[in-house]
Amino acid sequence: MNDCIGWLTASGALSDIPLQRLKFCVRHFLDSVRQSIQTNRETRDLLSDRQRLLDELAHFVRQHHRPGLRHVINGTGVIVHTNLGRSLLPMTAMEALHAAGARYANLELDLDAGKRGSRCHHVEGLLCELTGAESALVVNNNAAAVLLALEALASGKEAIVSRGQLVEIGGSFRIPDIMRRSGARLVEVGTTNRTHLRDYQQAITSNTGLLLRVHCSNYRIIGFASEVSNADLAQLGKKHDIPVMEDLGSGCLIDLSRFGLAKEPTVQDAVAAGVDIVTFSGDKLLGGPQAGILVGRKQHLDQIKNNPLNRALRIDKLTLAALEAVLRLYLDEGQALREIPTLAMIALPEAVLAERARALCEQCCALLADYAVCTVRSVWSQVGGGAMPEQNLASWAVVVEPIAMKINHLANRLRQASTPVVGRVEDDRLLFDLRTIAADETDSLLASLQTALQPGRGERS
Ligand SMILES: *Cc1c(COP(=O)(O)O)cnc(C)c1O
Repeated sequence: MNDCIGWLTASGALSDIPLQRLKFCVRHFLDSVRQSIQTNRETRDLLSDRQRLLDELAHFVRQHHRPGLRHVINGTGVIVHTNLGRSLLPMTAMEALHAAGARYANLELDLDAGKRGSRCHHVEGLLCELTGAESALVVNNNAAAVLLALEALASGKEAIVSRGQLVEIGGSFRIPDIMRRSGARLVEVGTTNRTHLRDYQQAITSNTGLLLRVHCSNYRIIGFASEVSNADLAQLGKKHDIPVMEDLGSGCLIDLSRFGLAKEPTVQDAVAAGVDIVTFSGDKLLGGPQAGILVGRKQHLDQIKNNPLNRALRIDKLTLAALEAVLRLYLDEGQALREIPTLAMIALPEAVLAERARALCEQCCALLADYAVCTVRSVWSQVGGGAMPEQNLASWAVVVEPIAMKINHLANRLRQASTPVVGRVEDDRLLFDLRTIAADETDSLLASLQTALQPGRGERS
């Protein structure tokens, strides 16, 4: 053990690794060598070759010392990719993060009054201005927003929901489970495919606390189907003096139908329709940081703000800083579409993507000719994040078909590359959709492809 550390430090190859980590790695490496020595011939060979043993050890240390959260190139063409971090932040948000992290800020200080202020105050005005709502609140994420609103408005009471809207979002967020947790009693009405206004009407009792509408983000019921509009539901709620809440999921502020997508209900639409509380995510179509946003009537938002759960679910100051910067971009729609990466990627014209695919393919052909056949192909990108499941955007991809390597092996090696790359496996090919690959990522993509495709390179047993 000490010998190993001595060799490693003497060689200087790992001089940047803290000694504590070095010791930890050497212990683990030697343990694994001891364990496999009985059964594995290769390990016995390894022990007789000191230089190779040290190389393997150095590689093990390097792998172990890599940061856990790393840059991954997204070649999937799924813009809001949940596993790859959903939305990318615009530059102004990155600057705001830096400023808020490195300096003290007036997070909870009212500079005019010299008194304690509210952290949400910094974005509340913007949210009201952008959505037309009277009041707003931000929390950790949209799941938290829904939980908090249900607990504050409908705990111990009945909340009426259509059977067609009892969704599971993924990551085990299910509307019926959240309702149970909040203490609200779920009252299902209608059927899977059709729910009418009279279904809600007949279910209203003296103990009804909320009428809830949930956007079917990630699935569609097509064919013989109907649901009650938010305007009709809002009117029904008003008549019976019951608050109406709509969980929009994605929370779009701009109508994106001009880019060939179906019209998603915007937050402004829901507010204008008379919905009392609207909840949505910060990092789906809004294109900001992870956050849950609630906008609506002051009376209800005050009730939600005063709920003790609000403190447990509160937004972090870095998130708040980034969110404010993103919301400010929406004051100028053109600027939002240019600078917010999620929107800019949706807006990318097919012709630009075709051109980029052709240029990247040329580089691939020049570099990888011995190992793969590279071509271009038209593909469909997806918005992702459980938004617009059946909506696609015409795009272009570089297709890589390895000559002597199984496609799953290549995909695996690409994930292990120094800059990991995730593509789409189709038949025996890997596709890299240019829509989600930034122009300044192509050099790293090429380097990773080159390493991954060459047998033996960068590979260890
Ligand atoms: C995504 C989504 C949620 C959860 O939002 P998070 O920001 O992931 O917590 C809740 N409801 C709907 C309808 C959604 O689409």
